[in-house]
Amino acid sequence: MAAHAFDLTGKAALVTGANTGIGQGIAVALAKAGADVALVARRDPSETRQLVEAEGVRAHIVMADLSSIEPCQRIVEETVAAFGKVDILVNNAGIIRREDALDFSEEDWDAVMDVNLKVLFFLSQAVARHMTGWSSQDGARGKIVNIASMLTFQGGIRVPSYTASKSGVGGLTKLMANEWAAKGVNVNAIAPGYIATNNTAALQADETRNRQIMERIPEGRWGDPADIGGAAVFLSSSAADYVQGHILAVDGGWLAR
Ligand code: NAP
Repeated sequence: MAAHAFDLTGKAALVTGANTGIGQGIAVALAKAGADVALVARRDPSETRQLVEAEGVRAHIVMADLSSIEPCQRIVEETVAAFGKVDILVNNAGIIRREDALDFSEEDWDAVMDVNLKVLFFLSQAVARHMTGWSSQDGARGKIVNIASMLTFQGGIRVPSYTASKSGVGGLTKLMANEWAAKGVNVNAIAPGYIATNNTAALQADETRNRQIMERIPEGRWGDPADIGGAAVFLSSSAADYVQGHILAVDGGWLAR
């Protein structure tokens, strides 16, 4: 039984893209809150496994390439085999391709849309079929947390497929909430601001863009993957049982400007 509303003791979480960056930060935050965590990755997530296990909970690695929907059902089955259930799904894996819109290729369009939007939907569907099919002993609800972006709200520059995919994540978050709320599943999203990870390495290295970004962030710094963890714990917990279809910005104040 959870000691308080944010406690995830006994929960089974599944985090995609858990080997690095925001996915690693979220996996560790869920573990600190007491959840066992299945780490979905296409590259060895042993570092994250060590960090999760150091919190005294279980970690389970599921190797999968999320550029197609082929592994979605297997990911759920392997997690259920390891932990007996899936209580929490965090759809974090994502990619970005940068090019002027005039020159943007179909390959860069499809690659980003497949990982960021198509697989996010079909993995959510596979997990939601599991969640809506169970009868939880304590009446606890399933939680799906999607990782959106500032470009769920804004247009961005030189990232057309990324903007399309993350705007789509915002819409799908609301659609899934509308359909699954009455079936015992909460679906929400986190929109990170500018977080220092591989995803933003090009921006961090570009002196002009880096300065422009920093000037606009009221907090005056890039975010760290750990900054996203608290919001992920909240939206994964019973504290968020009545929160549906919400896109929670964790951006150091970027959108407030
Ligand atoms: P990251 O360090 O590049 O992490 C992305 C993760 O997704 C990595 O684990 C990556 O695996 C995984 N991934 C990508 N394609 C995959 C595939 N085909 N199969 C399996 N895993 C795959 O960047 P990040 O910033 O932490 O990004 C995490 C999420 O946050 C993404 O959805 C991103 O769009 C979003 N986001 C980031 C920021 C930011 O400022 N950093 C802002 C808003 C939203 P590999 O390591 O093997 O590539």
